[in-house]
Amino acid sequence: MIPSVNFHLWEPCNMRCKFCFATFQDVKQTILPKGHLPKEQAIEVVLQLAEIGFEKITFAGGEPTLCPWLPELIKIAKDAGFTTMIVTNGSKLTDEFLIANKNYLDWIALSIDSINPETNIEMGRAVTGRTPLTFDYYKMLADKIKNFGYGLKINTVVTSKNFTEDLSSFIKYAQPKRWKIFQVLPIQGQNTGKIDSLIVSPNGFFQFIENHSKLDGITNIIPESNADMKGSYAMVDPAGRFYDNAQGKHNYSRPIIEIGARLALQQVNYDFEKFIERGGVYDWKNRKVFPTKITLSGYVASGKTTVGKLLANKLNYNFISIGDKTRKAAESKGLTIVQYQELCLSDPEIDKHLDNEFSTECNNTDNLIIDYRLGFKFVKNGFHIFLKISDNSATERIKQANRKFESYETASQRNESFKNQFLNAYGVDYTMPKNYDLVIEVEQFKSADEVVEFIIYELNKML
Ligand code: SF4
Repeated sequence: MIPSVNFHLWEPCNMRCKFCFATFQDVKQTILPKGHLPKEQAIEVVLQLAEIGFEKITFAGGEPTLCPWLPELIKIAKDAGFTTMIVTNGSKLTDEFLIANKNYLDWIALSIDSINPETNIEMGRAVTGRTPLTFDYYKMLADKIKNFGYGLKINTVVTSKNFTEDLSSFIKYAQPKRWKIFQVLPIQGQNTGKIDSLIVSPNGFFQFIENHSKLDGITNIIPESNADMKGSYAMVDPAGRFYDNAQGKHNYSRPIIEIGARLALQQVNYDFEKFIERGGVYDWKNRKVFPTKITLSGYVASGKTTVGKLLANKLNYNFISIGDKTRKAAESKGLTIVQYQELCLSDPEIDKHLDNEFSTECNNTDNLIIDYRLGFKFVKNGFHIFLKISDNSATERIKQANRKFESYETASQRNESFKNQFLNAYGVDYTMPKNYDLVIEVEQFKSADEVVEFIIYELNKML
């Protein structure tokens, strides 16, 4: 499933962009006169989105900073484990907002289409459609966003009015981590009748991209044509319904609050391949502080317990292990660890109880190194590491250590057994690299100490 979702929580906006494809006048006129859900329901939507596995949430609108409870939603999203982002026109981005949200909000995407006030007025990109933001104001915003430690992204919509313009001086100054450039997109029922004079041909759109291609080393340019944009975004409307735009108009699900996020998601059409092709997955965590929880997962005999203990020692963190908990649970039932694992395979509820207890303990404590294959799923805001080892080396290590896995002849059989156990209980494949912040092939290192040094190096590099 697409791992990131845009929640357009707030229909009202103080700008009047003629190309806006998120006007939601249809929603407002039919089921949501205020243009937004009550706060409690918006919170419920966010929690349900986290529950079904979305990893990144972007709060959009309308203009989301007009929503008085946006900071509360951002914090709740962060606590639920999301990478958080807002898309804003910047007009209400006050110092107060930037200070209040800096521990919970990872990214700010500024919508900037032109630095020419006349162009912005022509396109409606102006407060009340009349007062555009100035070049100096945009520069000041970019400075502040970066100085507060937010990841800066710029979104630009290319239209017939700005496709020959040059934004290089601004982009060179702002140096956003990502610059998304969209071809203006007609969406039936959202911008019908207003967008016609702004339509830009594919040639015009690619001319704009070409004219800025020399900035590629300064920022990461992501062009999105009309074809790229359709069907490749997971989106939720102000009424808390998933919607897609695959057919050039909005197709809405039933409300998430009514039927649950999982069922609602099945009522829309998202194209995962297209999402990948348009560069939807990137290193979005934008970490600002050294992680207070580091989880270690990995294959059998990859050394995660040894590495975990050494790492804990180096960082002066505490080491805890699901293995210890599992062993105690097995003992209490008079079973070996393998017998206990087989029991979990036949009755996933036993495992779920243990995972619940262990993850609660992890989430309520800081400064932990956590030996836990499912840490990536259950430990919020952790740094998740996976240790890989070849089957031959692992089997050799097991022999040398005289470890007995009774019914398992090779390490890969045991890895497969863990995989099935977790797929069975939670529908997740713990061996997939996409679940981790760092994947290490331990055979590349001479010792566990070297693996630890490498982890610390990577953590520091990331910051
Ligand atoms: S600022 Fe954004 S939400 Fe508001 S009108 Fe413009 S494009 Fe639409």
